[in-house]
Order: sequence, then structure tokens, then C-alpha cells
Amino acid sequence: MEKQSVAERIVKGLAALQHRGQESWGIAVPGEPILKGLGLIGQGADANAKKILSFTSNRGIGHVRYSTRGRTTLENAHPLDIRGEFAIAQNGTIANTEDLEPIVEKEFPILGSTTDTKLAGYRLLQHYRAEHDWTRAFHKLSKELSGSYSFVMITHDGEVLAARDEAGYRPLCLGYDPDTDTHIVASESCALTALQADFVRDVQPGELVSLSENGLKITRFADSPRHYHCPFEYTYFGHPSSRIDDHYVYDARRKLGRVLARKYPFKADVVIPVPDSARPAALGYSEESGIPMEEGLMKDRYRRKGSLRSFIEPTAKSREEIVREIITIKPVVDGKDVIVVDDSIVRGTSSRNIVQSLRDAGAKKVFMVVTFPPIRHPCYMGIDFPTREELLANKADGETLNIAELNKKVAREIGVDGLGYNDINGLSEGIGLGKDEMCFACVTGEYLGLKKDPVLRTREEMKA
Ligand code: SF4
Repeated sequence: MEKQSVAERIVKGLAALQHRGQESWGIAVPGEPILKGLGLIGQGADANAKKILSFTSNRGIGHVRYSTRGRTTLENAHPLDIRGEFAIAQNGTIANTEDLEPIVEKEFPILGSTTDTKLAGYRLLQHYRAEHDWTRAFHKLSKELSGSYSFVMITHDGEVLAARDEAGYRPLCLGYDPDTDTHIVASESCALTALQADFVRDVQPGELVSLSENGLKITRFADSPRHYHCPFEYTYFGHPSSRIDDHYVYDARRKLGRVLARKYPFKADVVIPVPDSARPAALGYSEESGIPMEEGLMKDRYRRKGSLRSFIEPTAKSREEIVREIITIKPVVDGKDVIVVDDSIVRGTSSRNIVQSLRDAGAKKVFMVVTFPPIRHPCYMGIDFPTREELLANKADGETLNIAELNKKVAREIGVDGLGYNDINGLSEGIGLGKDEMCFACVTGEYLGLKKDPVLRTREEMKA
């Protein structure tokens, strides 16, 4: 890598990944205290511009946080310092922290902070001190961790490491910028695009990438008989321009819309997406059905929270504020039968509000199709789905797996004239990954990719 500072490029990469986390941001470069802030990276970088420009290192890591464990505080913002030996940031959730805590606490009384990442980082340090080799240390750690993780780290002497769990729940990819001879590892390829770097390949599940003065080295620290890629990355989480595990998110969403049009051929005048993630799916539904697609709902980006994503906000209050800033375009829906395309129904609050706003704007009939199947169980692998009791599909229909019945019950709950949830087969067909390559734990309640059944925790326990 050339001898030029990477701090500004880290900021640019994080801005391209802002859709993955809006709570806090952080940057770690060797020889400097970790720089962190609450809120969005753009505002944080402006406020800290002088400091960021003073960073001279040609290696570093950065993170934007969406919390699944631990509170939204500056202390919990990633990267996290692990005894001055390395800084670590994680995408994912460690589901068995109760197993790690007693082992780690014996040596390090660290638990002022309860984040799973900090625990995993300290356990990794213990293994590294015993093994003096990162691949072996990760191998040992992987045997103990149940959950999902894509870690990035920087050591005190400037080695950058990136590891993806052997199940491959969360994405991680490798890029290269030939102009500056720079290797980049990022959660999604959209960050590489923003940095005008080439996409090299996905980091494979169980691989460890090392970037040091000796160049790029990739080793394997763990194997799994099968992968458990998260389909929610394709329907909601990922950026539409990203390519994840050989499949483009945009293509997947568009095909999912086509799948839903074949499954649920509702008769209507217009197809409208719930912005923004469902837009390619609405296009797909429109193409397959021949019903025109229009923008009947729009995010008002000029308002304070207009550009934020509601689902990844940590509190119900802020989620609702954002949904309220979605506006209805009356001439698109007034006097018409409307098909609304959404990526998921979680608690049902947002869906109910949107349906009501369409009726208020004069929509005659409102149908809804949903690209993700009914979510009935919490996720312990990196997505903040609430406890079972809060999930609408669970409240409406308990454990029954009959989608036709559930469609009727949830339709009544959210006030639509007809509802069509996708199912696992349709999800696999739309994304292009086999059913045996993905996780469906939040749909089926079978946590097959975890090493042990998760301890079912309350929301308060997860966010303590
Ligand atoms: S439980 Fe659901 S959201 Fe969580 S990793 Fe599995 S498919 Fe994705």
C-alpha cells in the first residue's frame, strides 16, 4: 500500500455503509486514540474534520453501529479497544455470551460494558496470547462462539485483520484499488464502489484476511458443512447496488417482486413500493403483472429524519417518527385499488400507519405483498427482531405454519383487503441461493446454524 493516509477514505466507505447502522460511528488507526461519535458518520466527520485529517497512517478500520446487544452509548460504539493490543468492530451477534463471560472475567474484570463484541475481543486476546498466531487464535475462538460475526480489527502495530464466521450469516468482501495499491475489506461491495475500488471477491465463511507490511494473506480458520446466509440482507438490509455471495441485491429484490406477482395476482390499478428497500420488488411485481408501478409513498428527505431508515433505529419512538415522515402522493392513489409492496412486517405498526395514510388519501382497496416470509421468532444472529410476543405474525397465528390462514389474520390486523407473504421457496427462488444455503430461523424457530439453542432473552436483557 502507498504511504498515504486512509482516514478520509474510511469516512467515505462508512458513509456508503450508513444504511447498515445509524447509531454511532468510529475509526481506529495505529498510534491514535479511537475516534468515535454518536449519530451519523457525515455529521461526525464534519465535526471532527481536523482530527481526521491529522491521521497519517496508511492502515485503519471503521464502523457504523446498529446495535443488537448493548445500549446505544459512546462507550459501546465500535471499534472497541482491547487492552491496547488491538481495536475490534463487529457486524453480527454472539448468542452465547453466558458461556464466555465466566472464562473472560476470571482474567479481565471488563464487564462495565456488556457488548458481545467486547467479550469476544477479550477471549480472542486470551487465545492469541496462548497461540501467537491469529489463524489459530480465531480457530479456537470459533469453536466457542455461537452466533454470527464479521469482525474487522487493527493491531497496535498496524496489522488489519478481517474474519467471517463459518456459517457466513453476515456479508464481508474484499476489494482492491490499483491506483493506490490499497486492499479494502468491507461489509458490502457498495463501499468499494464508493471508493472506486475493484470488487475482488467475497470473503468466504471461515476465512481470515490479514493485511500487513507483508501484503495480503488469506487463511481458513473454520469450516462448516453448510452455510447460513441471511436472506434478510437481500430483502431489506443490504444496499441495492451491492453484490453479496455472488448475487446482486437489486436483482434479488426485483425477482422477489416477480415471484410475489405470480403467487398473489391481486387485481388493482397501481403498484406502489414502501420506500426505499421495496422499490425493486415493486418494479418486479409491476413487470410480471402488467400493473403500472408508481411512487405513491415517498420519504421526505428534506425533513430532519427523512433520510433515515426506520427499522434499524433502536427505539420504537424514533422508528415511528421516521415512518411518519413517509408522505402519501394523493393523485397516485386517490380513487384507486392499490397494491403495496413491502420488505417485511415485524410488529405491524408501520404497516398499519401506511395503510391508514393510503386510505386517508383516497385509496379504495389496499392490498399488500411482502418479500420476506412471516417473522415469528427473534433473531440472535445480527438482526434486532423483537421478542416473539411483539412479532405480529406470532401474535396473529402462534406457531401455525399455514401462510394462507396467516395472510387473512394479518390482513385484518393491519387493515388491508388482501395480504400475501412470501414463503421460503419463493425467497430462495427470488434470491437465487438454495434453501440449504440460507438461514430461516426467524421464520421456522429452528436455530440450525447456531452451536447451541439460544437463551431467549427479553429486549431489556439484549440491550442492557
Ligand atoms: S434469524 Fe432471520 S434475520 Fe436472523 S440471520 Fe436468520 S434469516 Fe437472518
